[in-house]
Amino acid sequence: MEIAVIGSINMDYNNKVKSLPKKGETIVSQSFKMAGGGKGANQAITAKRLGKEVYMIGALGEDIAGDILFQELKAEGIDVDGIQRVKEPTGNAFITIDDMGDNTIVAYLGANAYVNREIIDRKKSVLERCQIIVIQLEIPLETVYYICSIGYDMGIPIILDPAPAASLSKDIYTSIHTITPNETELRSLTGEDDIERGAEKLLSLGVKEVIVTLGERGCYYTDGSLSTYIDAFTVDAIDTTAAGDSFNGAYAVALVEGQSKIDALKFANAVGSLTTTKLGAYDALPLRDDVEKFLKR
Ligand code: ADP
Repeated sequence: MEIAVIGSINMDYNNKVKSLPKKGETIVSQSFKMAGGGKGANQAITAKRLGKEVYMIGALGEDIAGDILFQELKAEGIDVDGIQRVKEPTGNAFITIDDMGDNTIVAYLGANAYVNREIIDRKKSVLERCQIIVIQLEIPLETVYYICSIGYDMGIPIILDPAPAASLSKDIYTSIHTITPNETELRSLTGEDDIERGAEKLLSLGVKEVIVTLGERGCYYTDGSLSTYIDAFTVDAIDTTAAGDSFNGAYAVALVEGQSKIDALKFANAVGSLTTTKLGAYDALPLRDDVEKFLKR
């Protein structure tokens, strides 16, 4: 197996509005769409659509949303053997997107809260055979810490997307290969507004490489010896949902392929940028062909 993604799977309920509602305000939606999401699933689908073998560990409810999402992930060609069904509602997110492509999200963990140590232990033999493990913070922190520690012991690089924003135990940084905060998440992790100083702090805590994603400005990379900004691509962004997730999935793919750092960051930026050009999560994640054509442009 090439890439393991351990994380959230959600049903997203998307409303498109002119401008985001203010506190106490009710507004009429211009369009509605129910669609699969969850940072873990978004990353897994990205890596699969970019041509890699993907094993997913996660949890879905024994409900209709769970049935739909299980079938969708399976139809993508993802190995769904690690997805457990539990007696809790499937995780969901209520997403509101405005005309500028900005969004607000209310998320309910639901079944995702049941991605625990036992599930990870049961699938350890599969994880041992993976080249890279990708995780985020939409499953219990305790599980995230456990994955970091066993990943480190097994010698498998971990990419952690520290989203949604949280502060983490100082002990886990040495077991993380790559951490990929956006600017808000960097602030939560380090207390720093300054991108380079924040990234430096994470390196000093023991992370091997830091990528700060900067939205339409692309990203900043540092591993202590190489430090560089890489521009995003200019696109007609209509919805930034899943841009960070696809960036992470793509970066994992590039690492497995042994792409140079600069190429890998460019590739991840291309995938992130392309994701903003379509509405929704799964629907917006590009195929390898689309990315190659986009990069040649
Ligand atoms: P998150 O979605 O986690 O907040 P970002 O907003 O930083 O993360 O986006 C992740 C990546 O997606 C960026 O590094 C960039 O490559 C791409 N991206 C995001 N927004 C845009 C945009 N408006 N135009 C072009 N690329 C974008």
